[in-house]
Amino acid sequence: MQPIQPHSTMEFVTNSPGDTHNLGRNIGSQAQPGDVLLLIGDLGAGKTTLTQGILWGLGGQEYARSPTFVLVSEYEGRLKLYHIDLYRIDELSELDDLGIVEILDGSGVTVIEWADRALEAFPPERLEVRFKRGPNDTRILKLSSTSPRYDHYFEQTQST
Ligand code: ADP
Ligand code: MG
Repeated sequence: MQPIQPHSTMEFVTNSPGDTHNLGRNIGSQAQPGDVLLLIGDLGAGKTTLTQGILWGLGGQEYARSPTFVLVSEYEGRLKLYHIDLYRIDELSELDDLGIVEILDGSGVTVIEWADRALEAFPPERLEVRFKRGPNDTRILKLSSTSPRYDHYFEQTQST
């Protein structure tokens, strides 16, 4: 399989969980039906924190936690948010049991933590967010789109 080339990339630095919430809110407020957002980074990198912001940006009111025993949580907002966490996935076939194809083809927004555990399961057109830790509480979030469909995230999301 050909590696997927990023179409555009942009880096954001957040200094606190609140900053990461705000970046997520920005993303959530711009999300479009069917968007697929892959989150890649270590434990504690901020993936769930960003997802919480995305949910709030979609107008959801709930608290998003990493789904631990279920692989997917569903939240209501302007669009449905499907929050998937692959931390505990053992086999790709577990994704089929989830109904991943229907979720990804649907009109909700799908956010996947630990997406690097099953990259080939996701559509080639997607927004990828890679998290790194910086000094103290900083996190460096590198957003990459793999298709122009996602480029609006760069035009409207302000660098922090
Ligand atoms: P993950 O889902 O990637 O495992 P979480 O979002 O659950 O990570 O946890 C991130 C942890 O790091 C939280 O305890 C949060 O308070 C802390 N934190 C510190 N600084 C930041 C930051 N800039 N952005 C996000 N989280 C941060
Ligand atoms: Mg998490």
